[in-house]
Amino acid sequence: MTGLQIEDLTWRYGDKPALDAVSLSVAPGEFCALLGPNGAGKSTLFNLATRLFESSHGSVRIDGADLYKNPAKSLSALGVVFQQPTLDLDLSVLENLRYFGSLHGMSGRETTGRAEETLRLLGMEDRIAETVRRLNGGHRRRMEIARALIHRPKVLLLDEPTVGLDPAARAAITDHVHALVRADGIAVLWATHLVDEVRSGDRLVVLHRGRVRAAGSVEDVIAGSGKADLASAFLHLTAEDVAA
Ligand code: ADP
Repeated sequence: MTGLQIEDLTWRYGDKPALDAVSLSVAPGEFCALLGPNGAGKSTLFNLATRLFESSHGSVRIDGADLYKNPAKSLSALGVVFQQPTLDLDLSVLENLRYFGSLHGMSGRETTGRAEETLRLLGMEDRIAETVRRLNGGHRRRMEIARALIHRPKVLLLDEPTVGLDPAARAAITDHVHALVRADGIAVLWATHLVDEVRSGDRLVVLHRGRVRAAGSVEDVIAGSGKADLASAFLHLTAEDVAA
């Protein structure tokens, strides 16, 4: 199977459970929002899905390859945008992207072509020669997304990629990544605690206290909760009494 499949992932910090038998899958061309309040387990799931942590329980498959048994193959199909930015501020956008392309064994020419393509998809092709230090927060985040896409991954993971951005920049990035899913056919897992980043037509997984509380289309999750909209459904699904 292609895309991303997570099965039965479990994780504890010492004796503190953080993820309890979490399963989810994201198909190519699908935007899946992993929605959960702070402390739900989203970052833990990302650390497991990128092999920063290795779970002895459960499995992760990326574009058909098992992350723990065949890490080189599965990681080559993975792009990741972590919460903490790691751009070189004194290099230009293109220089940053070319550096990452070379880490993936791509030629300078190939990287430049792909950089132009991804920056266009993200609406910032006119910034390619700009020094990163001169970019605003929204453009820096878009650039990190372009960097994560440089090697044409099949699966893109983003851990709360809009943290610290103003509403306009948040909306622009959310729109761009949705457009990218349609244009590139990539499987996207987007972690957030903000319901307004979830769009009609997305796949949705609601995580709370390390467990999947609901999963399916946005419309199905709302209907299943018996509430009128996603904000009310999310509050209901993550209420303390539900978690107990
Ligand atoms: P989220 O990303 O959804 O905010 P996390 O994955 O960071 O959630 O955290 C899940 C749970 O694990 C929380 O209860 C958090 O306090 C706990 N946790 C996270 N990191 C550590 C750690 N390094 N040591 C102990 N507990 C942790």
